[in-house]
Amino acid sequence: MTTWQGALIQKYPTLFVRPFRGVAFAPGYPRCAPGWQHVVTRLVERVAAAANDGSVYFTQMVCEHGVLRTHWSSRSEIPQQLALKIEEAIGLAEARSASACIDCGAEGRLFATDFVLAPLCRLHQRGTPVPIVAGRDVYLRRGVVRQRPVLVCSRYDWESDAFLDLPTSADSRPKRLSDDCEL
Ligand SMILES: [Zn+2]
Repeated sequence: MTTWQGALIQKYPTLFVRPFRGVAFAPGYPRCAPGWQHVVTRLVERVAAAANDGSVYFTQMVCEHGVLRTHWSSRSEIPQQLALKIEEAIGLAEARSASACIDCGAEGRLFATDFVLAPLCRLHQRGTPVPIVAGRDVYLRRGVVRQRPVLVCSRYDWESDAFLDLPTSADSRPKRLSDDCEL
């Protein structure tokens, strides 16, 4: 029986498959619970939309301390804009996974269960809820403003599955960590 991960890899082989001693191997095989299938699929679709020409591939996709961690590489040099698009897709997946129940994918919160951190929804909650800290849904992202690399401070919005830029200071200077973010 093909797993959902296997089906996804077969659908987007250039993003996953590398030859290893003559056999097909996917270093970025998504190693995470079924509840994150949608998060992973959305991530792969977003990256495929940006680069499905074999230029990039995933090298690791794992659940780490309750968050989906994704690493990738490129087979050749790629434009910065493309790299930023891929990082954006990965950032969105990480942000969503932090609140997506590992059992069903519904919105939940972080729990410690048998010494393992994982987000769980009301229906599947178990273990001890991890206290919520202010700014947990605030993310720093790399961006480009006026052709200069900057750090953009954003909040993840569950409903729209998108980053919303936080209100800027009065002037219109490119946002930087020291300007807008209090983390
Ligand atoms: Zn659930």
